[in-house]
Amino acid sequence: MAISSPDWETPATACLAPSKLKRLTYSDISRYAAEAQFSAAYCFAPMPGDGAPEHIRTLVLLVRTYTPGGLLVDRFYPASNAAFHAARAMAERIAEENGIEALPLSNLKLKPMCRRHAAFGTGINTLNYLPDIGSRFCLELVGLSAEVAQERAIPYDHSQLSCGDCRRCQRACPGGAITEKGFEKERCIRFYMLSGKPMPVHLRKYIGGEAGARAIVGCDICQRVCPANARMEERRTAEDDFTLEELLLCDAGTLADFAARYGKNYAIRNRIIAQALLAAGNTGAPGYLEIITALTQSSSALVAEHARWAREMIEKKR
Ligand code: SF4
Ligand code: SF4
Repeated sequence: MAISSPDWETPATACLAPSKLKRLTYSDISRYAAEAQFSAAYCFAPMPGDGAPEHIRTLVLLVRTYTPGGLLVDRFYPASNAAFHAARAMAERIAEENGIEALPLSNLKLKPMCRRHAAFGTGINTLNYLPDIGSRFCLELVGLSAEVAQERAIPYDHSQLSCGDCRRCQRACPGGAITEKGFEKERCIRFYMLSGKPMPVHLRKYIGGEAGARAIVGCDICQRVCPANARMEERRTAEDDFTLEELLLCDAGTLADFAARYGKNYAIRNRIIAQALLAAGNTGAPGYLEIITALTQSSSALVAEHARWAREMIEKKR
């Protein structure tokens, strides 16, 4: 699969039965997906347990790759937000141009769908992988009321990810979330980010530290160290949309911009400030003390608690 431009040679496993509704082909779906800036599309019939509405005959799993990076906000988040909107626009277009129903269904559980599809592999970090692009992609799902005709069937190589005895992600995870027994989400930094819960003290030192690997929003250490992501890692950028000071203050303009870039679900002012405080504390920079001290008086218990911690960190390093 190409990563710089969409590669439509990757086949889909589509419904084989001839459609009595609307004869859409895999090429049609590929074209819609490419025009919506997706890098690949996989079509398959829904299975019981997928949760698709009964009249949906085809599920279209859409893949959008992204370049890793971001010091304060991991680049997965803007890519995921863009993919979310692109999938909706694509569904509307398919419905309008073909007279069928096309529903955005990304709220369904997508990981199990990937796991039964031969193109995808799964790491011990529970992430899905594709050849060449590793785990650096976002997924969206669209359901169609029409069947999609398969035009070619090329078997996938199912050996694109072999964890073997690697365990690099397990060793690198700061929270110890990747265990021999499986993934323990309560130990994962992302479980606390923007959750409204205070970050456990032992994890606070990782926020904003070490060249953005553990950002204010997002932690990708387990992906960063994975050999299957090496090719994408070469393209890492330090690109960021905000400064730390902007996130600490989080005025109305910053908040609106944050919502537009990453999605309104993430744009909760006190939660952004709370995360930014941990990063500010970890800088050890006295220049942030004035803002931090003011925030120790916040009416938000979360903000006040993180502000006290951040002030203590900076004072210790003075
Ligand atoms: S995202 Fe970070 S904390 Fe969570 S499992 Fe990966 S490395 Fe561990
Ligand atoms: S870092 Fe190693 S063990 Fe972890 S997912 Fe990648 S290949 Fe598997």
